Formats: sequence, structure tokens, C-alpha cells
Amino acid sequence: MGKRMDLIGQRFGRYVVISEVGCHLPRRFVCRCDCGETRIVRMSSLRNGTSRSCGCLRAKRASELRTYDLSGQRFGRLVAKRIIGKAAKNSNVWILDCDCGGQAQASTHNLIQGHVRSCGCLKKDTDRINLEQSMLDKTVDGVRVPLLSQKIRSDNSSGHKGVSFDKRSGKWRAYIGIKGKFIDLGLYSDIADAVAARKAGEEKYHAPYIDTET
Ligand SMILES: [Zn+2]
Ligand SMILES: [Zn+2]
Repeated sequence: MGKRMDLIGQRFGRYVVISEVGCHLPRRFVCRCDCGETRIVRMSSLRNGTSRSCGCLRAKRASELRTYDLSGQRFGRLVAKRIIGKAAKNSNVWILDCDCGGQAQASTHNLIQGHVRSCGCLKKDTDRINLEQSMLDKTVDGVRVPLLSQKIRSDNSSGHKGVSFDKRSGKWRAYIGIKGKFIDLGLYSDIADAVAARKAGEEKYHAPYIDTET
């Protein structure tokens, strides 16, 4: 028989190992918890740290959660006012005032963990900022242009939307920008033809979807 690992007398979290139970696998030990309870625990659970108390540690945390007084404390944009009920695991539910003038309800657990930080206005603000940023980032033909801009670009050489003079060919180029993509509508020696081509392009590519007209 090989040398068996002896855990008796060793401490694992709040457990102290008292004796071994039988001689069958998996090996199990009688452990006494600091709170006075005894439990039978597998050696593997002791050694890998999954079992560190009889459960009193978890109960202690839960009772702490119950008794936390958060009134007047700030969580992001929220300030806790008073308890209005119980949540799962006996955590209290608080009503809170938001900086925006709104109100929110959240459990002690969610507040302490930082899961709730506003009445919802924080997310709305973040979404709006992200949207504005994505509009600013929208580029057409390598040039940053605000979305839905109806302005004729200052470097537009024709004075007509989507028509510019192509120096290389000596002709007028018609083009259209759709959803950030540049679409070439062709070169024309007569500016009127280029303007007509752009008009046709607007109809073809469906005007409501035109992001930019440069
Ligand atoms: Zn215990
Ligand atoms: Zn708010």
C-alpha cells in the first residue's frame, strides 16, 4: 500500500480536517468549520478550494447584503433613498434618485457590484454619443462629411450636387454617395448631361437613402 496523503489537522479555509471517513475512493474527511459545524468533504474539494466552509461564509455575506445601509450613498448618477422591498437572495431593493431627475430601483447586490449606475439615462447618453461619433466617422470619397448633409461641398467645381469637373479628361463627372459609398455615374462633355445623369442616379438609388450629396 502506497503512502496516503494525510490531511488530518490541516486547515482549508474555515475547515480543519478531523478524521478520514472509511477507506473508499473518493477519499472523504470529517471537517470542523470555524463556526462549530462539522461536514464530510471530499479530499478533491478541499484541495482545489471549492469547499472552504460549511456554508456559513456564504450566509454571512448574504446577511451583510441584507444589512447594508446604502441610504445617501452614491452609485454613478444614483443616490440611494430608501428600501422599498426584497430581491432574490434577500438582498434589499432600493429606490434611488438619478442626477437627471429620474428615479431608479435596484438591489443592494446590483448597486454594490456596479451593475446599475443610472435610471437608464447613462445608456441613452452613451448611445447618443456613439451615434454622433459614427455619423462623424462616416466618410464619402475619403472626405469626412456629416450624415444627411445637404450642403454642396465648397470644392465642388460645378455648383451642382454630384457633378464635378474632371481635369484629366476635361469632362464633367456625375456621381452619387450612397451609404458611405461613392458611385461613379460617368463622364459627360456637356454639364447638362452630367446633371441629368445625377438626377437619374438619385431616382435609381432611391433618394431617401442618400447619405451625402457632395
Ligand atoms: Zn461554518
Ligand atoms: Zn437618469
